[in-house]
Amino acid sequence: MQYIGRFAPSPSGPLHFGSLIAATASYLCAKSVQGQWLLRIEDVDKFRIKKNSIDSIISTLENYGYQWDGKILYQSQRTEAYQHALDSLNTLTYPCTCTRKFLQQKSPASTYGYIYTGFCREQISNPNAAQFAIRLRTNNKTIYFNDALQGSYCQDLETEVGDFILKRSDKMFSYQLAVVVDDEYQKISEVVRGSDLLDNTPRQLYLQQCLGYHHPTYLHFPIATTENGKKLSKQNHSPEITTHHKRQTILQALNFLGQHPPSLDHFSSLEDLWDWAIKNWNRNKIPAQMTLSEYYPHLS
Ligand SMILES: [Zn+2]
Repeated sequence: MQYIGRFAPSPSGPLHFGSLIAATASYLCAKSVQGQWLLRIEDVDKFRIKKNSIDSIISTLENYGYQWDGKILYQSQRTEAYQHALDSLNTLTYPCTCTRKFLQQKSPASTYGYIYTGFCREQISNPNAAQFAIRLRTNNKTIYFNDALQGSYCQDLETEVGDFILKRSDKMFSYQLAVVVDDEYQKISEVVRGSDLLDNTPRQLYLQQCLGYHHPTYLHFPIATTENGKKLSKQNHSPEITTHHKRQTILQALNFLGQHPPSLDHFSSLEDLWDWAIKNWNRNKIPAQMTLSEYYPHLS
């Protein structure tokens, strides 16, 4: 089977260093085995899209020399496919009219936000509500999987997460549904992404099972955190990647991923650097945990 990987940024701002690490890890996992690397823009949530960020992400990737295969997939153009998948789940789903406020007051908190304890499973809690979300029954499922880097992982969906949303009350499809439908559509064989998404994976594996899809394998690399353990993101002002110092930036990403490339003066061009990175990529060298400050001290 051919290796097919993907990078799926959400256009909520320009590319930052944390996403560059995700791009680099998934790119090298694919290119080092002559696989395909697909680019997907996760613009399913139109309320989170920042103006111009799609163009900016694509041009940054181009500038840095990433070469994706085939056409870019835009989640905003996949509404029909998501609806089709949702319809096929039939009685596994049900409408939920709980408001956010109600859930905040009545639901047990968890590391995933709150646990939905099934208020609307048998009967909707507010029959007069004009708006409703669609949830998937978790049916007392415990999901186990083996992550290529983080090892075995287990989550009891019903008690740790609860029935989760596939379509929101504002008619937007959820990230969980979109990502699962697209991974199947693009025949992704391995998902390489940050460990901040590790706890989403059991929901996605369960949804794949409900839809009769194949299961990709998963590799969750450590996410870039600042010294005080905060995730590096647009929200905490991680610097936007500029098109200056491209080789330095890629070298930093490679260092973060445990690859220990030679110093900058070893490479006469960006192409040289990518050649080295593809030829020498060793996924077993990626550390399972890391703080960014070890390699990028001025960010913390
Ligand atoms: Zn409900």
